[in-house]
Amino acid sequence: MPTLRGLSSSVSASHGEGVPTLLSGFTKCPGLFYATPAQDGILSRIRIPGGILDSQQCYAIADIADEFGGGYVDVTNRANLQIREIDKGINAEVLQRLQDIGLGSPNPVVDHIRNIMTSPTAGIDSQELIDTRPFVQGWNQYILENPHLSGLSAKFSVCFDGGGAVSVGDRLNDITLAAVLVDSNVYFRLYLSVGAKGEPSRDMEILLTPEQCLPVLAALADVYLNHIDFNSSRKPRLREIINTLGWENYLQLVLQRLNFAGETLTPQLPSLPVRFQEELKERSDFQYQHIGIHPQVQPNLFYIGVVLPLGRLKSWQMRGLAELVEKYGTLRLTPWQNLLLTDIQEHQVADVKNKIKSLKLDFAATNIKSALVACSGSRGCAASATDTKGHALILAEYLETRLTLDRPVNIHFSGCVKSCAQHSKSDIALLGVSIEGENKNVEAYHIFVGDGDSNQKFGRLLYQYVTFSELPALIERMLFVYQLQRLSCDESFGNFSDRYPTIQLKQLFNKHLVEIFTTNAH
Ligand code: SF4
Repeated sequence: MPTLRGLSSSVSASHGEGVPTLLSGFTKCPGLFYATPAQDGILSRIRIPGGILDSQQCYAIADIADEFGGGYVDVTNRANLQIREIDKGINAEVLQRLQDIGLGSPNPVVDHIRNIMTSPTAGIDSQELIDTRPFVQGWNQYILENPHLSGLSAKFSVCFDGGGAVSVGDRLNDITLAAVLVDSNVYFRLYLSVGAKGEPSRDMEILLTPEQCLPVLAALADVYLNHIDFNSSRKPRLREIINTLGWENYLQLVLQRLNFAGETLTPQLPSLPVRFQEELKERSDFQYQHIGIHPQVQPNLFYIGVVLPLGRLKSWQMRGLAELVEKYGTLRLTPWQNLLLTDIQEHQVADVKNKIKSLKLDFAATNIKSALVACSGSRGCAASATDTKGHALILAEYLETRLTLDRPVNIHFSGCVKSCAQHSKSDIALLGVSIEGENKNVEAYHIFVGDGDSNQKFGRLLYQYVTFSELPALIERMLFVYQLQRLSCDESFGNFSDRYPTIQLKQLFNKHLVEIFTTNAH
């Protein structure tokens, strides 16, 4: 088993090109080579392109978490891993070791660029149109080989959706390439982040052949770089540059660049009648279907989706999972802060289930924690009005003792309006706010439900300034009424709430009315 223990822990200095070093003053976004302070110590983020890890990498991460951090890792909503509570810098030897096993960019100057997202079931999903893993690897390799991309915004984000049952096409990304089938051929449809912050990506109505995807991505990146101040520490988002130039002009510059480079993309923007956005939305409603036991496209192989409460894994659990990966295949992190164990033969499934249970983890989709998401909250982010992670766990533990769900309900906590918990796809969104008290401020939440008006970032506002002490009982009532009044087991909480005007919905959740429901139900 590889180990990182016993290595010296002095903070590294710069050693020249190719040698790992801690960089500073380059970006505020965390990375393996950027010591980013948080309230609970230094935060280090490891890019995991596509979220796929082998056993050696799992062991190494568990060792770092113990040696340098708080003894745990957090899976982020881009399927990165974060190590927190680091009180001394990760030294050059350890960084080198991580680079050697494929964790951390060989070239640190591009390590800040956002993780490349794809479905965690890429290559094993029986419904997917194309395996997107080679595209993730290809784009990652291009980034590593092109140091001029260090000028990209740290938030320059790319997503490949293969058209399978577990979709990531609805996730917020600067650039999404989503597979579609046209006349029996697979293409990628191009979506770009345009317009106001938080708006869904815009369908550019451009179809790309699989071979065109990476050249187009490179051209999109180059046009961005040509329109920014490379030396400025504040890099604009891609959306801002597209808004300034106009998306038609931006795309023409991309096309010119491709023509100049001899690429084959036709300089026409074919218009398609299909509104693929709707299809993406339908598939995204099933995003938590990856939890539990599922057949892979490969005969006699299964994957198991494992629930991680708020994406957290203790280092001993990571080692236990590494042992399973050593025997059975790969571990894949999901953008929903859970994980998959893949390539398990049918006769091995029972063993793996037992091992998962012995690691104090669960694989039931109806576990309330399977669809619970929280941003860093006040323990890790100065902007937060509330302890989102702590509150989310308390809420889940309260609900677990009082309710049994038969389908996941997405409950997302954010500590401020930036919405790092990605409320766009939640059933219930909780926005942390502070109420001024006599001696100290009181932590509270605004509660939003469903999709609401598309102009509403968090959904539809239902309640304001609900203190945390009032919150668990109120959410319990909301879930209780939903299970009683929904049209069918397939109706999500969001769709259920969207059927009612706000006043009527609040009446349904009224404490006294619910008490009558409860009495009758018994
Ligand atoms: S949503 Fe706000 S409070 Fe939460 S992590 Fe993001 S910036 Fe911080």
